[in-house]
Amino acid sequence: MSSPKTLCDWSKSDLAKRSEELAELVRDAGYYCAKCARVANDKRVLCKSKKLPQPAKVK
Ligand SMILES: [Zn+2]
Repeated sequence: MSSPKTLCDWSKSDLAKRSEELAELVRDAGYYCAKCARVANDKRVLCKSKKLPQPAKVK
C-alpha cells in the first residue's frame, strides 16, 4: 500500500489515520494549493502549490 503523493490526494480515511503526519506537513505552512486550498510547509505535497502570502498586518 503506497501513500498518496500529495496532501491533496489524501482521503478522509488518510486524514483520520495520518493526523500526526498531517500536523507535521501543515505546521508553519508556507505554501497553499491554488486548487484544493490545502496548506503545507513543503510545496511538493501540494498539486498546485503557491507561496502563501503573509497575512495583512492589522493596524
Ligand atoms: Zn491540490
